[in-house]
Amino acid sequence: MAKPHRLLDASAGPLIAVRLWTLTRKTLGGLETDLDARVLRQDGQPLPGLYAAGEVAGFGGGGMHGYRALEGTFLGGCIFSGRTAGRAAAKAVG
Ligand SMILES: Cc1cc2nc3c(=O)[nH]c(=O)nc-3n(C[C@H](O)[C@H](O)[C@H](O)COP(=O)(O)OP(=O)(O)OC[C@H]3O[C@@H](n4cnc5c(N)ncnc54)[C@H](O)[C@@H]3O)c2cc1C
Repeated sequence: MAKPHRLLDASAGPLIAVRLWTLTRKTLGGLETDLDARVLRQDGQPLPGLYAAGEVAGFGGGGMHGYRALEGTFLGGCIFSGRTAGRAAAKAVG
């Protein structure tokens, strides 16, 4: 088992470097939508022709599941809200 030591203790080497790539894993929303997935403006009125689904609409974890963002609950909400947005958009164009 490795004993604790000073980070730069040469006798405890070698130092190992790991390159990290950062990404945004969960955004938990950004655009407010109504039940037809229409994006709402600040005054609460729909922005004509703009629909949103998935993470950007708050359907990854939070939203559908209340304020909680439980692991493994994101994809379901994203897919369901995509279905809702697709259906509403198709209905809007006839
Ligand atoms: C490492 C990791 C593990 C995860 N594990 C799970 C899990 O086990 N279970 C679970 O339920 N959820 C999991 N999630 C969450 C889940 O993957 C996401 O909530 C879900 O994929 C979000 O789907 P989305 O379509 O809303 O967004 P995204 O999948 O992020 O899709 C957005 C798309 O838009 C594209 N895009 C961005 N900007 C532009 C632009 N300007 N023009 C054109 N295209 C653009 C992007 O390239 C991307 O393809 C995980 C997420 C991560 C990162």
